[in-house]
Amino acid sequence: MQTDVLIVGGGPAGLSAALVFGRARKRVLLCDAGTPRNAAAVGIHNFITRDGVSPRDFRAAAHADLGAYPSVETRAVGVVDVVRAGDRLSVTLEDGTTVSARRVLLATGVVDVPPDVPGLAEAWGTSAFQCPYCHGWEVRDRAWGVLASTDAVASWSLVLRGWTANLVLYTDGASLSADTSAKLDAAGVPVETTKIARLHSEAGHVHHVELADGRTRPCDALFLHPAQRPTALVVRMGLELSEAGLVRVDDQKQSSMPGVHVAGDAAAHPQGAVMAASAGVFAAAMMNHALTLDDVAGRLR
Ligand SMILES: Cc1cc2nc3c(=O)[nH]c(=O)nc-3n(C[C@H](O)[C@H](O)[C@H](O)COP(=O)(O)OP(=O)(O)OC[C@H]3O[C@@H](n4cnc5c(N)ncnc54)[C@H](O)[C@@H]3O)c2cc1C
Repeated sequence: MQTDVLIVGGGPAGLSAALVFGRARKRVLLCDAGTPRNAAAVGIHNFITRDGVSPRDFRAAAHADLGAYPSVETRAVGVVDVVRAGDRLSVTLEDGTTVSARRVLLATGVVDVPPDVPGLAEAWGTSAFQCPYCHGWEVRDRAWGVLASTDAVASWSLVLRGWTANLVLYTDGASLSADTSAKLDAAGVPVETTKIARLHSEAGHVHHVELADGRTRPCDALFLHPAQRPTALVVRMGLELSEAGLVRVDDQKQSSMPGVHVAGDAAAHPQGAVMAASAGVFAAAMMNHALTLDDVAGRLR
């Protein structure tokens, strides 16, 4: 099979890009493995006109929009490899199919690597979150914990005071610098340096933190900054990464492999659904310019 563009990933970035290509009359195949980063979240917030929509409904609405454009095809299938083949790209799908594309857009997101805290996985997305802008409003003024084992994350956590005055910082056994501790003290944020034994929750809703010395602290929501790693496909393709572990892209969102562009969380900080959607639109427009100018040059030659 041949296509103008193959998009890997059907999250906000890939879906928004597919809309641009459909409206620009390019043939596009979007392949999605169906493992969105926000799968555990009840709703997506901070996306105007969509505030609070479930990740599943968001994707369903996007697929309905794409249905209006005959040059857009979507498939629920993973992509296992992308290699250059002359002036095109050869894409291998999980089902063994090979697709030849003029350009590829990777919108594969990132993989969160949460710390090894017992009970955290059960609460992830329901009452343990990565972003106060996304989920702070719903638990405003409640008892919050923030998990911060480095000075950088501990300093970031001061921003959480905007949502609640009832904030406790847990270092899970790590020590903070005297400077950071003084800032937290001045902001009225108590610091617990004892290791966390378990996060206790019911149906995903945290109610207290148990410390290794047996003490407990009430907690309705826990915020943290999980480490991230690139997706398996990005690693396999050997794309150049930034110090932060994100795919390095140029001002056209093109990666170190010519013809392969990257949009969304895979290449960006800060991260969020509307920012990923915006990056997908931008990357698609840049790719469409290049493709159309190639076509025009070919016809005029
Ligand atoms: C718990 C949680 C809650 C969040 N809540 C919010 C919120 O309320 N508001 C907000 O703005 N942001 C929120 N975010 C962040 C937001 O989800 C991301 O910024 C956004 O989803 C990034 O979009 P993306 O398109 O780059 O990647 P993703 O949404 O992660 O989509 C990537 C897609 O690529 C697919 N994929 C990966 N590899 C392959 C492959 N090899 N082949 C085929 N498909 C592949 C995956 O299956 C996935 O469907 C939340 C994140 C988390 C973890």
